[in-house]
Amino acid sequence: MGNFSSKRENIKRPPSDILEAADFIVRGGIGGVPTETVYGLAADATNPDAVRKIFEAKGRPFIDPLIVHVCDMEMARKVAEFTPEAEKLAAEFWPGPLTMVLKKTPLIPDITTAGMDTVAVRMPSHPAMLGLIRASKPIAAPSANPFGYVSPTCAEHVRSMLGGKIDFVIDGGECACGVESTIVLMVSSPKKLLRPGPIPPEEIARALGEELDVSPKVNEAHPQAPGMLKSHYSPKSRLTLFSDAAEIPDGFAGNAIYLARPAEPKKNEYWLSENGDLAEAAKNLFALIRKLDAEGKDIFCQKPPLSGIGLAIADRLGRAETKH
Ligand code: AMP
Ligand code: MG
Repeated sequence: MGNFSSKRENIKRPPSDILEAADFIVRGGIGGVPTETVYGLAADATNPDAVRKIFEAKGRPFIDPLIVHVCDMEMARKVAEFTPEAEKLAAEFWPGPLTMVLKKTPLIPDITTAGMDTVAVRMPSHPAMLGLIRASKPIAAPSANPFGYVSPTCAEHVRSMLGGKIDFVIDGGECACGVESTIVLMVSSPKKLLRPGPIPPEEIARALGEELDVSPKVNEAHPQAPGMLKSHYSPKSRLTLFSDAAEIPDGFAGNAIYLARPAEPKKNEYWLSENGDLAEAAKNLFALIRKLDAEGKDIFCQKPPLSGIGLAIADRLGRAETKH
């Protein structure tokens, strides 16, 4: 397994680690890649044998389709049929944390889309990921973690969980967003928010000039988004959510997570952002849960307000919460 490091700013001439990773991708290998949302587990989206390796390494059910990542509009139009509205959203939000579900083209094999005639497409903004795609293929990449567990937000998370099963990890530093992309189903009327993410639904509705259905029904048998499964993104420790600190039982011996720094924090109290900034809270969410999960103690975590990226944080926490 190659161990690559340092941040990539200039993608005009891809550094040798990206070219080496591109070579693995073209030859059907898989590896960990940085994006602005979370780290992905990458394979050539057009190669069914390579895509199969992603499902096997993650233990991901084959009914759960993958997002295909592209580096420019020319590549985007080769993998999906772009409608005028999709062109509009791409012009406004790409590269960035927006995934659109569109009709697929024959270039994308059934295994990538779990047999559906639609494909989820995104143009990420991380320069190393863009450089890798440009030097190889459209890349299918779910989050680089065992299925159902907390997503990785740095290269070390990927190495520690999947290191023995993959060909390379590109270290692109900490993920800027920390939660997975916003997913919009573009082939329905009205269009549907399938997963809340860093781009709030109001912004998408504004760009489209039409309403978005923000609460589509979950179909657990054939999820339109795996993030829609009721239980996902889950730590092993018992996780309970609270609105008011008074809900934490007296004598609680586990760890508590607050959105902002408490006035006088105790030893077992942690915070996602110094002053409760929600973008910063999202960025730190999975890494803090992962760190506390290693202690194996019960966790209480404060619910965020349901606006902007708070929607995405609340969504992930709701699925991570221990079901009773
Ligand atoms: P992950 O890669 O684990 O962040 O999840 C990728 C997300 O994209 C999942 O929630 C998928 O179900 C969703 N997705 C991928 N392809 C499709 C599709 N064709 N239709 C609907 N959702 C999709
Ligand atoms: Mg995932």
